Amino acid sequence: MRHKVLAAIFLATTAAGAQTATDPLRIWVGNPDPAGVTAWVQSHLDEATKQENTLLAVTGARTAANTLAPYDEADRALSTAARGAHLLNAAGSAKELRDAAQAESRRVSAASTELSLNRTVYDRLASIDIGGAGADTKFYLAKLLRDYRLQGVDKDEATRKQIRALRDQITNLVLQFNRNIAEGTAHIEVKGSELDGLPSDYIARHKPDANGVITLTTDEPDYRPVMEYARSTELRHRLFDAYNERCYPANRDVLLKMLTLRAQLAHLLGFTNYADYAAADKMIGSAANIRSLITELDKVAAPARAREMERLIAYAKTQDPSLTSIPEYSARYWLNQYETFTYNFDSQAVRAYFPFAQVQEGVLSTASRLFHVHFTVVPGAPTWDPSVTVLDVTDGREAGGKKLGRIYLDMHPRPGKDKWFNAGPVVLGKRGIALPEARLNGNFTGGENGDPGLMQYDDVVTFFHEFGHMMHMVLGGNQQYEGTGPLSVEWDFVEAPSQMLEEFFASRSVLDPFAHDYKTNQPMPEALFNNMIRADAFDRGIQTERQLMYAGFALHLHDRDPSQVDPDALLAASYKQYSAFTEDPANRMYATFTHLTGYASNYYTYQLSKVIALDFFTQFDPANLLDGPTALRYRKAVLEPGGSVSANTLVKNFLGRPQQYEAMRQWINKDLESSPAK
Ligand SMILES: [Zn+2]
Repeated sequence: MRHKVLAAIFLATTAAGAQTATDPLRIWVGNPDPAGVTAWVQSHLDEATKQENTLLAVTGARTAANTLAPYDEADRALSTAARGAHLLNAAGSAKELRDAAQAESRRVSAASTELSLNRTVYDRLASIDIGGAGADTKFYLAKLLRDYRLQGVDKDEATRKQIRALRDQITNLVLQFNRNIAEGTAHIEVKGSELDGLPSDYIARHKPDANGVITLTTDEPDYRPVMEYARSTELRHRLFDAYNERCYPANRDVLLKMLTLRAQLAHLLGFTNYADYAAADKMIGSAANIRSLITELDKVAAPARAREMERLIAYAKTQDPSLTSIPEYSARYWLNQYETFTYNFDSQAVRAYFPFAQVQEGVLSTASRLFHVHFTVVPGAPTWDPSVTVLDVTDGREAGGKKLGRIYLDMHPRPGKDKWFNAGPVVLGKRGIALPEARLNGNFTGGENGDPGLMQYDDVVTFFHEFGHMMHMVLGGNQQYEGTGPLSVEWDFVEAPSQMLEEFFASRSVLDPFAHDYKTNQPMPEALFNNMIRADAFDRGIQTERQLMYAGFALHLHDRDPSQVDPDALLAASYKQYSAFTEDPANRMYATFTHLTGYASNYYTYQLSKVIALDFFTQFDPANLLDGPTALRYRKAVLEPGGSVSANTLVKNFLGRPQQYEAMRQWINKDLESSPAK
């Protein structure tokens, strides 16, 4: 077995005296010190080198067994090292440990990049005789070779040199763009009376100086409440402009340079434009398909947006008769006013029904029914922090089934832990070698003794969303290759399974078993539930169109000759087409739009995943969401194959056809306000 080989290597390379990790898959076992972390990572880097050498040493006919299999093991060793270092960096208990893990992360990342650009490895993989191999093997190899080609590894030496230089320059521009945003805080000065409408704790935090002047920054905790609550139109306008201009013109220049270099890179790799290149390894496949996704969704969302805007403006006019349209800087304010007035919805009142421990029980039992799995707490299982709950996942709703994997619930903030909500694998599954293990990283309330941890509805939905990622990793993490696991599924599909789960928690029948008042144990009153769901659903047309505006804008920056790109003109055109709010000519949001670095032209992915998630959800019987036959069919068709087939195939296997827009149309246009409460 591979475990034993790894363990042997590990022992041989451990520095004397270091407190070591003692499990080749789980870095946290044995509570390693920083030197132990380095030794653990090194053992995996050595293993990867060994596997790579095995692959390169093959003389004679290259087969999946003698070439692809060691490649996958090299990749697994690097991925295991990356996951371990990432985990301790994000959640390690001591600062020295997190620092060591961060340095190790960089070392692993450099080794992975080297493997992904290795021409000799590519040539060996490309020469495999794949004739008699199974479908999984063929799919895996084709995808690997495509990814190598998208990196330009198959090009001649001179071209590869150019590609590398371009990538380095692009990376530097990305860093510059993001650093400008991180450092680009702007300020405005206001008088106390201008804070009218803001929550009292906000006002208490912003005391005037000796001259009676209050300084507001463009950081989120200062910015967001003003846009939502400040009654002063002038204040919202001023802070909106400061916020959106804070990296202008510096980032306009950086962006234009970045677009030019990206276009050059795409040309070298044989693509007409960068948007086509960046779509080539996605479900969507091309810039033309992104364009038609946006066009179709616009048709679906425009009627709802018009209806919502009509109501919004009618309401705003009752408050301000002079108003004829709503400017962008007042959008959130009026949406917030309208929802509070119309639904009389108090998001604080709902919290009594969502104490943390009850919600966690509810998430686990809902997932157990839905996915036909059982969760068992493993007392004393080693973790990286004593507050983490460890559960084994077994097949079937009752205890005693076959073990499928393990999950770690790391749910509350603690000093030094990262501030995000996400789910990720901590052990990569591979059939016959390792069962998958996944971790939910949360920063939910309720970690302290005596605190019931009353959650917002949004947080409850987030919990189930992240749990969806974990179910995907556990149920799909048992493939022939580590490289065909659920993590390798196309990027524009990966949110669909978790977005689908969000819909379940908008149903009374799913919430009722656990959403009880933490003091009286009473279920949520009908009116409160309805108002919660209505307030949540009111602006779906407006918000979908807003997402399309960003998606279209990001696409158009990347789908044409960069020398012809005028970001201001493109942004104005996008507003005109997709937004019902009037644009502010001083709006330079592109200079702070961080998605332009990581997502480039692929902002559409959120919307495609949503289309698929909602289409999937329509397959479930609304009267019997958890217990009908669809759930098991979904588990088998969508989750269990992991990344061993294309996402388009997963969709077709479950729906019997490609995804359609109808479910999204109904979801956006569900006019809860005109229909009687159910
Ligand atoms: Zn997600």
